[in-house]
Amino acid sequence: MKKMLFVLFVSAAILPLEVAAQDVGWVIDASAKAMGSATLQSIRYTGSGTNNSVGQAFTAGGPWPRFKITKYVALVNYTVPVMRQESVRVDNENPPRGGGAGGYNPATGQGGIRPVPGDIIQNQNTDGRTEIGALNMWLTPHGFLKGAAANGAKIAGTRGKTKLVSFTAFGKYTVTGAIDDQNLVERVETKIDGGLAGDTVLEGSYSDYKDFAGVKFPMHIVQRQGGHPILDITVADVEPNSSAAREITGNPQRGGAGARGGEGGGPAGIRTEKIADGIWFLNMGAPQSVLVEFKDYLVVIEGGSGDDRTVATIAEAKRMFPAKPIKYLVNTHHHFDHSGGIRAYAAEGIPIITHESHKHYYEEQIFKNPHTLNPDRLARMPRAVMIETVKDKRVFTDGNMTLELHLVRGNLHAEGMLMAYVPKEKLIIQADLFTPRPGVPPLPSPSPYTTNFVENVERLKLDVQRVVHVHGGTDSWTEVLKAAGR
Ligand SMILES: [Zn+2]
Repeated sequence: MKKMLFVLFVSAAILPLEVAAQDVGWVIDASAKAMGSATLQSIRYTGSGTNNSVGQAFTAGGPWPRFKITKYVALVNYTVPVMRQESVRVDNENPPRGGGAGGYNPATGQGGIRPVPGDIIQNQNTDGRTEIGALNMWLTPHGFLKGAAANGAKIAGTRGKTKLVSFTAFGKYTVTGAIDDQNLVERVETKIDGGLAGDTVLEGSYSDYKDFAGVKFPMHIVQRQGGHPILDITVADVEPNSSAAREITGNPQRGGAGARGGEGGGPAGIRTEKIADGIWFLNMGAPQSVLVEFKDYLVVIEGGSGDDRTVATIAEAKRMFPAKPIKYLVNTHHHFDHSGGIRAYAAEGIPIITHESHKHYYEEQIFKNPHTLNPDRLARMPRAVMIETVKDKRVFTDGNMTLELHLVRGNLHAEGMLMAYVPKEKLIIQADLFTPRPGVPPLPSPSPYTTNFVENVERLKLDVQRVVHVHGGTDSWTEVLKAAGR
């Protein structure tokens, strides 16, 4: 449905060009004047609302989990340009469904698993001197006008009384803004590289404009990525040319929205760590890959993030076992931080094993979406992708090593979650069902993700002594039972 709306919008954009190209300067000037953009060097605005965790849906391809933002402060300094968004959010979905807890932080006792206790402080710095940062700055209504004036914008069409103004930046990104009959920016849209998801529409909608000392600002901000809401803010207070915003000059950590989603990530330095006979962590920062050795082949569990890591993981497996090919890549679930590398495995011709509930989403979206903005290995070397699905169980064995894949039934973290069991080691390899929380008191009540994990192990009558976490480390089963309140 959202896709349909986007198509209609684009169609409208190529209808009769009632406004001649030479009028674009006038359109931008008129809007800048109405909006008060010309003299706006910085702005601070506050509010509250919701945001969503990118790529952390409960169902493959479903809506991204929503968190409530109790306090939101944005500081934009257009003179650098940089932007800082400070949010306090709470995990108030009850029960929680999907991921988005973020990495475990021992200093706050938060993250790792939902529900996340207490107020979650989330700060995001956007550096407008980077490609993705600039796109995020231009997504703001005043930022769009500044970007349009600086980048040779053109009139892209009209839609009723609304004029569409468009410019191209960095040779490949098209940024289009809709300017209404009051000369106010009502919508800005561009496409970014969404990593696993490929070319992804990033859009901002702005409404309920009010005047603040000659500067117009929307009281309602909605941003979407790939059709999914990522930010919905009701603005309470606006301070144009704020000195606090002018003090934001840099030290950016991230490019802003349009990051690839998920938790963790890190440099592609590989560190191999033996877990048990025939089982290794290929440790490159969480989430990690786990290598399982059979007589004639290897199985890799989890391809978490991007081409670089997949290439390094495959190279390390080859270094360790030059004569044994990687026969399968097992994908525990569809979250971006657990599936970011699957396209690169597919590019190497390695079949992907995942739950049957993921097949349609992977085939119709992840392996079909265009990757023109930043072509990955599969986009550069297209080939048929092999997806093999698991319903309840699949077993690999060579008589010595046996690896069982089981569906984790009814877990709220992700529909179709798979876990792996190695009977001879009494060992389970799991993602996001349990997170060790060393050094902090236990959660007020056990996470339903962990209690369900224990119920599944009991249902399947698995004899477990040790648990391997795809997000890092191992624990005894006793520790998991304790976290589940047993
Ligand atoms: Zn997850």
